[in-house]
Formats: sequence, structure tokens, C-alpha cells
Amino acid sequence: MEMLVAGSWRGAADGRIEEIRSPFDGRIVDTVPVATVKDAVAALDRAEIGARIQRSTPAHERVDILLRAAALADERAEDIAQTISAESGKPITEARGESSRSGNIIRLAAYEGSQLYGSSLPLDANAGTGLDKIGFTLRQPVGIVVAITPFNYPALLVLHKIAPALAAGNAVVLKPARATPLTALKLARCFVDAGLPPEALSVITGPGSSLGDVLVTDPRVRKVSFTGSTSVGTRISSIAGVKKLSLELGASCPVIILPDADLELAATAVASGGYVNAGQVCISVQRVIVDRRVEADFLDALVPKVEAIAVGDPRADGTRLGSLISVDEATRVQASIAAARQTGARVLTGGDRDGAVVSPAVVAGVDPRSPLSRDELFGPAVAVSSAQDIEGAIAQANDNDYGLGAGIFTNDVAGTVQAMRSIDAGNIHINWSPLWRADLMPYGGLKGSGVGKEGVRSAVQEMTEEKTIVLHGRPW
Ligand code: NAD
Repeated sequence: MEMLVAGSWRGAADGRIEEIRSPFDGRIVDTVPVATVKDAVAALDRAEIGARIQRSTPAHERVDILLRAAALADERAEDIAQTISAESGKPITEARGESSRSGNIIRLAAYEGSQLYGSSLPLDANAGTGLDKIGFTLRQPVGIVVAITPFNYPALLVLHKIAPALAAGNAVVLKPARATPLTALKLARCFVDAGLPPEALSVITGPGSSLGDVLVTDPRVRKVSFTGSTSVGTRISSIAGVKKLSLELGASCPVIILPDADLELAATAVASGGYVNAGQVCISVQRVIVDRRVEADFLDALVPKVEAIAVGDPRADGTRLGSLISVDEATRVQASIAAARQTGARVLTGGDRDGAVVSPAVVAGVDPRSPLSRDELFGPAVAVSSAQDIEGAIAQANDNDYGLGAGIFTNDVAGTVQAMRSIDAGNIHINWSPLWRADLMPYGGLKGSGVGKEGVRSAVQEMTEEKTIVLHGRPW
């Protein structure tokens, strides 16, 4: 496919292309241009015009365009699902689940884009001021938004940026993940075909290492919205300069299981939440901290459920676990599991590799400070450790640089309240795993997991800026 620069589908300035291959079997899915810095600058130049057009387009017209784009995303959901699965190795059933949310995200964004309310300011409450002034706030688009997205949800994570940005009246330059650009291009086509002003959206494909700096540092860009690894996010925040920044970064999400928990429910949630998309989800269950009084019973419930996960060809309807994004990533994940075993942990099931596929693993007796628990794994393994009581479990959960999602299983109200207040995580789930998201809810991490919130309403707010206006009359 060609890339999109302000309504025109084209190749890179120097004509270079690269193959996008299925990580499962290496077959070529398509090719895309390898954009040059010149292409990135051309996209930003056009976005300047796009930002002006978008800002002068009434919200109701933007809503109409987005609703048409949503309808096209619904119509094209099966093609988008096939593309997600082919380029990422995600099982087709999961890919269908992802693509089926596309239209809804765009619709939610469209509605939020028509709700850019400000507030009136009671200036006369300020000592020394009278009734001769009127103050209010005005919410406006930031202008040009640069969106940079990872490979693991090629549709959702793209739409959670471009739909709110466009709905709020901005122009967007998107740099999708190098491994999964095809889904982003197909989604962009929905907006183009819906009648979006051409200059309002560009999607440039290629390496973040060469394109990232120019996109992030350009002073015309007023907002950078990044989802990806903590290392790249840290680099972006150090070079971006004075502009708005959202960073949705890595995680190592804990689940706490208290002695009164429904262990069957907890095992079901962990056997799902640890292995969806082969564990390549920022809110994947990576650490399970179980009260030692119920540890054995919980593991007895969990292991057969994990062993029942059907591993195989992502194209097959019955497959629940396909490949990781590359053989290199699978090799890294396998090595992390093997390293935990060497330091005394017990691999109860899984952890074997075949190409880019790693079988789903449960690792018990994991030292909570060991790399398998501490660092983001982004693979299909759950590290289980135990705690003596709720205080010990919460302390273990918080003893980590990240703070994105967490889950706690208990039916005790006091324990639930304690957990909600004490766990360092942006999203906390009671009696389910952190791997759950509704597209409208605020979503984002604490600590090393990032800054800023996504979720359609929050994202629309973050894609705008607020002016304070004061009308000065005369005392009467
Ligand atoms: P990555 O950081 O390698 O790449 C993300 C994007 O950044 C890609 O588009 C890449 O091309 C680009 N990039 C690379 N170098 C860059 C640079 N120097 N400047 C600017 N952009 C650059 O991440 P990934 O491997 O694609 O995705 C996995 C990571 O994403 C995991 O750490 C995961 O936790 C994180 N993630 C976080 C969330 C969240 O909501 N917190 C959601 C999904 C994924």
C-alpha cells in the first residue's frame, strides 16, 4: 500500500519500500514506503494548512464526517480484522474483536468533539473586582497533533489518537508501528472516503528511529501523543520541547488474590488476561500475588485453563494464541522464562518456542524483585508469587516502577476499599483482571507507565487547549 500525505496516496521521496510480513509464517502481506525525513516534513507542511481548515470547520460538520468514517469502518471491519491478524500474528477471533470496536471509537469521538464546553468565571467573587467584567473559558483545538503508535493493537491504539484529535478540530500526522502500518492505512482510508479535508490527515510509514525526531521536535507540532515502550517515550519527553505530551508506556500489571476470593473466577480471568494477544498487551496480567493460604488451590485451578488455550495458526477460528510480533521477541520472552527457572522459579506449564510462537506459561515461586516480575515481559507468561496478607500483597504490587493496571479478587468490602485507595495504578479492577477496557473510560498509567489520559473523552480534552477570556466593560 502507499502511504497517505494530505489526501494523496504516494511512495517515499526516494522510492524505497519495505515488506510487511506475517510474523507467524513469514509470508509477505504487502509492502509500504519507507518514508524519509523529507516526507515527514512534507506531511507537517500540509498539516499546517489542515489545522487551519479544521479550526474553521464547524463542529457539526466535523461530527458528520466522523460519523461517515465510523460507518465505513463498520462496513470494512472484516477486511481490517484480516489485515490486523496478517500483519501482527494476532488470532483472527481477537482481530475481529478489535476491528469491531473501530466504528464505536470514532462515533464516541465524534460526539465528544461536539461537546467542547468552556465555563463561565465568577470574576466578581475576586476581592476588588466588580460586575463590570465577564470571564469565560474557550476550548479550542491545539493545531497539529503527531501520533505515534505501537504494534500490539494496530487499530484501537491508532483510533484512540486520531479520532479524538480530528473530532477536536486538529490536523494529525500519524506514524504507525513499523511492523503494523497496513491497518492504520486502511483506517485512514475510511476518514478520507468520508470526506475529511485532505490536509487534515497524513500517515507516514517507516522507522521511528529516523522519522521520530523530526516529527516530535518540530515547533509547529503542538501535541505529541505517543503509545509505546518506556525507553522511546523517555527519549521523546527529553527532546519534544514545549508542547503537550501524552505518553502511554510500559507496564507489569499485578493481580492480587485474597483468601476469600472466588478462585475459579480469578483463575478464569488470569487465564484470559495473561495471554490475550500472546501477552503483548500493556494491561496484560504479568504478576499474580496470591495469599499463601490459597496459593496451591489457585494454581490447581489456573494451570489446566492455561493448558487448554489453543495455540496455532492465527488464521484459524479456534486459535486463541498466535505468534508474537517477531522471532526475536519470542526468543527474548523464552529466555526470560528460562532465566526465572534458573533462579529457582517453577515453570508449571509452557514457555517453549516454535518460531515466533511461545506456548502459554505459568511460572510459580517467582521472586517479586526478579526480572520476570519486575520488568515488562510483553509475552504469554504469568509470574506467580505469594504474600502473607493484604498489606504484603499491596506492598508487593506497588514495589514496581510501573503503574498502569491492576486487579484484585476479593468479596471483602474493607479489602476492596483498601486496595482501591492504595494500589499505584491508573486503572484498578475489582474481581476481574486489568485486561479490560471500555473505549470511553479514562485510561492511562501512573509512575513509569506514562503521563496523560486516553479514553475518548479524556483524549478530546487533551487534544484541545483552554483560553481564558475576559470582557472588560465599564462600571455603571
Ligand atoms: P516501541 O516503543 O518500540 O515503538 C512504538 C512506536 O514508536 C513505533 O511507531 C515506533 O516506530 C516508534 N519509534 C521508535 N523509535 C522512535 C523514536 N526514536 N522516536 C519516535 N518514535 C519512535 O513500542 P512497540 O514495541 O511497538 O510496542 C510495545 C510497547 O508499547 C510496550 O512497552 C507496551 O507496554 C507499550 N504499550 C503501552 C500502552 C499503554 O496504553 N500504556 C498500550 C500499548 C502498548
